[in-house]
Amino acid sequence: MIWQELKVKLARTFTPMEMERLEKAYQFSDRAHQGQTRLSGDPYVLHSLETAAILYDLHSDTDAIVAGLLHDCIEDTSATYEDILRDFGKETADLVEGVTKISTRVFRDSEEQKAENLRKIMLAMIRDIRVLVIKLADRLHNMRTLEYLPKEKQKRLARETMEIYAPLAHRLGIARLKNELEDRAFSFLYPEEYRELVSQVTGFETQHANVIEDAKQQIQKLLTDVSITVQVDGRRKHLFSIWNKMRYQKKTLDQIYDLLALRIIVPDLRDCYAALGIVHAHWKPMPGRFKDFIAMPRSNMYQSLHTTVIGPSGDPLEIQIRTEEMHQTAEEGIAAHWTYKEGVEVGEKISSKFSWFRQFLDWQQDLRDSKEFMEALKIDLFEDEVFVFTPKGEVKSLRRNANPIDFAYLIHSRVGDTLMGAKVNGRLVPLKYELKNGDIVEVITRSDARPSRDWLKMVKTTKAKNRIRHYFRQLEKEENIKQGKNLLSSELERCNSSLTEVVKKDRLLEAARKMNFKTVDELLVQVGDGNVTVRTVAAKLGLEVPNIQPQPKTPSTKTRIPSKSDDSIRVHGLAGMVTRFAQCCHPIPGDAIVGYITQGRGVSIHRTDCSNARRLLEEAGRRVNVSWDDMQKDATHILQLFVQAADRERLRTDLLQVFDDIDAVLKETGTRTNKQNLFEGTYKVQVKGKDHVKELIRGLEKVKGVQKVARQ
Ligand code: MN
Repeated sequence: MIWQELKVKLARTFTPMEMERLEKAYQFSDRAHQGQTRLSGDPYVLHSLETAAILYDLHSDTDAIVAGLLHDCIEDTSATYEDILRDFGKETADLVEGVTKISTRVFRDSEEQKAENLRKIMLAMIRDIRVLVIKLADRLHNMRTLEYLPKEKQKRLARETMEIYAPLAHRLGIARLKNELEDRAFSFLYPEEYRELVSQVTGFETQHANVIEDAKQQIQKLLTDVSITVQVDGRRKHLFSIWNKMRYQKKTLDQIYDLLALRIIVPDLRDCYAALGIVHAHWKPMPGRFKDFIAMPRSNMYQSLHTTVIGPSGDPLEIQIRTEEMHQTAEEGIAAHWTYKEGVEVGEKISSKFSWFRQFLDWQQDLRDSKEFMEALKIDLFEDEVFVFTPKGEVKSLRRNANPIDFAYLIHSRVGDTLMGAKVNGRLVPLKYELKNGDIVEVITRSDARPSRDWLKMVKTTKAKNRIRHYFRQLEKEENIKQGKNLLSSELERCNSSLTEVVKKDRLLEAARKMNFKTVDELLVQVGDGNVTVRTVAAKLGLEVPNIQPQPKTPSTKTRIPSKSDDSIRVHGLAGMVTRFAQCCHPIPGDAIVGYITQGRGVSIHRTDCSNARRLLEEAGRRVNVSWDDMQKDATHILQLFVQAADRERLRTDLLQVFDDIDAVLKETGTRTNKQNLFEGTYKVQVKGKDHVKELIRGLEKVKGVQKVARQ
């Protein structure tokens, strides 16, 4: 693309004054990138022009297109933020800077790094969503020219595109962009599968071209007969989504229902339902395949009717029905709703339309580290949704498989914290009930009800998980403060002082500050948690500490926080203690185990060979003997496996196959491959006992390339 070409396009939309700014931006970029070339051999500025052209196709405003032309100037040339500010104003300069910030860090294959990258994108985008759209346009052109890059870089960029940019494009509803990003990334990540699929699909299409043409004409005629003007198109599903279906649902190409698909575009909403009726009267609908995304739009604003019928050839035929406006939203998402020209604050306007975006603003403050953030984002980016109603008829969207607890926390954290029970469609249901589309959900609360730790395992939404964690953190904090007070108080008495005395004259606050705590409470939390000893505090208070051995801390036998009691363990000596499995070593029946009395959270059960436990148990009086209860050996348990292997094509799939074959349910996986092509994966998995684990490990060890399998 050369400037003259783009100029002609832009001039169709923009005023002469705006064109002047755009021309100036092109000149600026051309000058700045003078002498630079892309690996394709093209002058660098062509990349800026292509990026701008993509932005134009997404109906961007002049500021965004100007920023698109300049997007690599700060990063790759001697031009500065100030230069752009001077020549183009603050809005454009901020956009360019925003794009620069999210693109400077090279993507490394670690979760941390990815999370950090994402967090940057999110922050930039919360300030101005155009930053993300420019970045997406930039990425799309980079993907279009990816073949010129070295192999290793191709894979890395393709993976990054697949994991971050395509899902973001999806969330913004820009289907066109998302589909192209995915298909291009797919072709680099799995070149063989890609080629194979292209030829299969092409074959399938040629074979069925007549059917589609025939169906198209029949619909045209049927609808024209009842005077509905209609446009019918064959719809080609993009390759990556076909491949995904085949992979995850283990289907062959012929078994995918929506491969043969038509899209009907009608003038208005009423016609959508009229057309649906006519289609269903003419061809037999397949049960369970009708979806009304008009009444219940997806959270990225997608609206359409979907149905599958037995078409003229006897093959299933998917039909989508929508209005022109819905179609535009479906293809362009957010881009179909730009409103700069009206002078509306972009962020606000967008966030009012995208519930997902609003949630981001909400929980990005809640998440403590980047790992949690990544986990949260992954969940919320990829999962499908379910739509339910409040008793007042308000529609709420939740993650698929969500339950009434998720629903309660979606309404308000107070509602969640005091949840007692729930009714769905007027009937009492258990809290683990899986919500279905269209359910009317009513929550029952009681002011003295409290969340249970079990809920953490039950809830499916990030929001609920975070709120429950927050509740328990808060509770723990209060308990620790109380405990800290008790401990400190008795120590002070030994020193002939008292808590009241040191608090009154702010002496305790002073001491706290000397120890780098901002408040007394912060200090007390650490004392209560055992991280700071009372002797240290007394010394900081300038008190004479009598030289007697401090009493070993006796754990309270009463557990304060309700926690999941594990029936499969018998604790010697302390009947009625609440127990839980340690997350560091995931013991399972048959393992030699030992109990550690925690502060306020009952007994945690470790494997005797757990290094963590060995360290913990050095502290006197905390050890407790535990044994497996024979009756319960059949219960399932979670543990973590570590796999090291030489990476190769299909390694991941082969490993997953083992879990499948041995009937071990995977809960979580994390994999990475380093520069030396060494694959490392952790798999959190549900197993039935020691023998089951042995079988699993043997199975994994047999997979080609695997060097090491270990329990963690
Ligand atoms: Mn670029």
